[in-house]
Amino acid sequence: YRMDKFPVNELIIETVEKFRTQNMHSIIFVDDASDVIVAGDRERIAQVLMNLIGNAIKFSPQGGNVTISMKNDLNKLCVSIKDEGIGIPTEDIPKLFSKFQRIDNSSRRKIGGTGLGLAICQEIIHQHDGEIWIDSAEEQGTTVHFELPLVAEPQEYTNHEGTEESPPVMIVEDDM
Ligand code: ATP
Ligand code: MG
Repeated sequence: YRMDKFPVNELIIETVEKFRTQNMHSIIFVDDASDVIVAGDRERIAQVLMNLIGNAIKFSPQGGNVTISMKNDLNKLCVSIKDEGIGIPTEDIPKLFSKFQRIDNSSRRKIGGTGLGLAICQEIIHQHDGEIWIDSAEEQGTTVHFELPLVAEPQEYTNHEGTEESPPVMIVEDDM
């Protein structure tokens, strides 16, 4: 892992651009955590986003909305990728983070994949001390959430009035 500090919203915008050419889904990005900086491996987090957005597109009908949202509190950043696709039966959700686990039924038989994406996503997020989980209901769509921890970096920030306030940007501890 190559640790770096970067704004996640920029990485999301960059990743979404890579899917634009397909143009059969609307990808909506709701950014409620602008300028939040995480410490992590930018390439690996990009890989997580590629698989989750790719899954959202792959398992939902043309023209479906894929909504990516971002929010944070003092301790963590949460990114959610929501689709309006075929969904996942509740009993299958826990096994999908294991390697080569796919769901084989009629609505999925023509959709390709090796079943490695979510296992890799979980491995990467766990390496960053984060968490990843799935909310889904069959026929109603799926939302995958991942959280990355944030730690405020002690630094002074002076606003335009010249008074001190807490820094506007949260930084993750760089100790991996
Ligand atoms: P790969 O990512 O290796 O190309 P894959 O997409 O099949 O293959 P995963 O990303 O690990 O593998 O997903 C595992 C399985 O979970 C998928 O085959 C699919 O059945 C189900 N799944 C994942 N994301 C979604 C989603 N957004 N909607 C519905 N089903 C999903
Ligand atoms: Mg996948």
